[in-house]
Amino acid sequence: MTEDEGTATATADVVVVGAGPGGCVLSYLLARSGVETVLLERHADLDREFRGYFFQPLVLRLFEEMGVLSDVLALDHDEIRSPAVTAFGRSYDVVDISTLPASHDYGLLMEQPPLLRFFIDRAREFDAFEFRPATTANDLLREDGRVVGVSATDRERDEKLELRSRLVVGADGRYSTVREAAGIDPGLFDSDVELLWFKLPADAVGTAAQGRIEGEGILLYFGLGAEDAQAGWFVEKGTYPAIRERGIDALRRRIAAVDPTIARHLRSFDQCSLLRIEPGLSETWTRDGLLLLGDAAHVASPVGGQGNGLAIQDAVVAHSTVVTALEGADGALPNERLARFESRRRPAVEEVLRLQRRGERALSWYVRHRDSIPAWVGSPLTRALFAVLPETASFRRTWETFALGPEPVSVDTAAFESPP
Ligand SMILES: Cc1cc2nc3c(=O)[nH]c(=O)nc-3n(C[C@H](O)[C@H](O)[C@H](O)COP(=O)(O)OP(=O)(O)OC[C@H]3O[C@@H](n4cnc5c(N)ncnc54)[C@H](O)[C@@H]3O)c2cc1C
Repeated sequence: MTEDEGTATATADVVVVGAGPGGCVLSYLLARSGVETVLLERHADLDREFRGYFFQPLVLRLFEEMGVLSDVLALDHDEIRSPAVTAFGRSYDVVDISTLPASHDYGLLMEQPPLLRFFIDRAREFDAFEFRPATTANDLLREDGRVVGVSATDRERDEKLELRSRLVVGADGRYSTVREAAGIDPGLFDSDVELLWFKLPADAVGTAAQGRIEGEGILLYFGLGAEDAQAGWFVEKGTYPAIRERGIDALRRRIAAVDPTIARHLRSFDQCSLLRIEPGLSETWTRDGLLLLGDAAHVASPVGGQGNGLAIQDAVVAHSTVVTALEGADGALPNERLARFESRRRPAVEEVLRLQRRGERALSWYVRHRDSIPAWVGSPLTRALFAVLPETASFRRTWETFALGPEPVSVDTAAFESPP
């Protein structure tokens, strides 16, 4: 590290921006392969609210290939085989993960912070790795049209930083600074719904994960161990200001019609966060010296619990692409050496997005029309739908794709410096 007119400079093979599931897993895999990697995270800690806590069975298989699964399972978690769905007072087994041809017969419900900390701690065992929390990437450094690093602000050391690298990985999520600095369009699709998400005390939710549909609306909730629980309430896009104007009592009454226990714990709009859920597909994921992955490359909607798995699969494919690309070359990694990542991952991501969009259209229709559907029509119709839908081949195929991925990817363990 050198100081130059108040700006510290440093170099690494790869700078990963963003310590979400994608950035942490990629950093760990690269560090384990002897690649000099610096991981930047704008937050001082890994505590994050309103994130996806469900990990599909395909993620368990990848953790097993990395040789870390038993240590991950030592962290606080729940095993989900059949997420509970209640529609108009009746429970349905919409999906039973244990019947799918997966290597593991359950999905994992786990808070993100301990999992992210786990991968960072494991990466720290390798000299090639450095983690810089409280460090925000502000812009890309460029030379002759190629990306050659990032400029950042390190609030922990109170300094400006120029990090030069052969590759910058934008793993900085839905609102990616890296993607924006590169002038890459996020390709957001329209969505008619938004999710009002709120925190609850841990004992407010008696089950690990549940969805509940009634004439008044759709409620999702997750019990997340000893600390807290969260619930999500779907609202029509753009209606949150009017909901606030009508007041917390009106919202609570509406939610109480779906679940009075949950509603009792909602006391103020301060507990709530409005989440945009429209998915997106960025126009390109690689350029000379640059690679985008996870939500930065393709914003995930929460439908079907896909975002974590997509980001982790991206990390696995990016790891093998980058290790190969670094061999026998100098300077910024050229686009043609990185393009394999996108050609491998884009068709699978497009397929998942297509299925998510289909689910989201049905959801939006219900949220927009629920008030105009009389209960005597809505209740039997919804019950019939939930009785029949899980039996259809197309629904089963969708769940299989969500749980296993459209095209399985594998960890390039041959690139590791020490065997798993
Ligand atoms: C309400 C909700 C529920 C969801 N439920 C599920 C679910 O159950 N299962 C599932 O699989 N997916 C779910 N998702 C989606 C999932 O959370 C995301 O797809 C996943 O976290 C994406 O991982 P990522 O690594 O790409 O990015 P992120 O997890 O978004 O991580 C990006 C990181 O980059 C950091 N960062 C941002 N900008 C900068 C910068 N300039 N400099 C440095 N650091 C920066 C951020 O602080 C963050 O830590 C849900 C999403 C939402 C909103």
